[in-house]
Amino acid sequence: MINLVLFGPPGAGKGTQSQKLIAKYGLVHLSTGDLLRAEIAAQTELGLAAKKLMDQGILVPDEIVIGMIRNKIQENLNANGFIFDGFPRTVAQAEALDKMLAENGLAISGMIALQVSEEELTKRLLLRGQTSGRADDQNEALIRKRVEEYNHKTRPVADFYAAQGKFTAINGIGEIDEIFDTICKVIDSWK
Ligand code: AMP
Repeated sequence: MINLVLFGPPGAGKGTQSQKLIAKYGLVHLSTGDLLRAEIAAQTELGLAAKKLMDQGILVPDEIVIGMIRNKIQENLNANGFIFDGFPRTVAQAEALDKMLAENGLAISGMIALQVSEEELTKRLLLRGQTSGRADDQNEALIRKRVEEYNHKTRPVADFYAAQGKFTAINGIGEIDEIFDTICKVIDSWK
């Protein structure tokens, strides 16, 4: 099984690359952002509570996303593997993920981090906001808040995987297909 953590700040290209990786490797895509937006669309209690934080660019509590991921892992135990996209975003989430996988005899294969400058991220997110309908992509102050949350709470997750010898950083600026090829080379080196 290939269990990939695709890492990087908002706008780094995680969603775009995930779609291509699903097609090539037949992995199950677990994006906590997408799962939360589905809860909001279904107007569940969890979704309504999460929306208040998401609208401010703040991370939702660890327990919420850990619970959602636990369910999805259990539902897909016979998959070829998972792409974790936008999760884990805190060290506590990373520790919980290792534990949940180990309980099922699984482990993270590696983390691939897409590196993109803050200036480029803001440009990409504002552009995406014109068509995505995502309120959190349409406001520069909110984008800055999300990048700030990333810098404070999420960046340390890279060190967590580096300490396990599972961290690879790649340049996230350039042609989508070139970046994809680089990611595939890293994944193929794990097999
Ligand atoms: P994303 O689609 O990954 O950019 O996520 C959109 C928003 O959902 C984030 O700004 C957070 O408020 C929330 N969110 C998504 N994933 C997580 C996570 N793993 N931990 C905490 N909050 C999350």
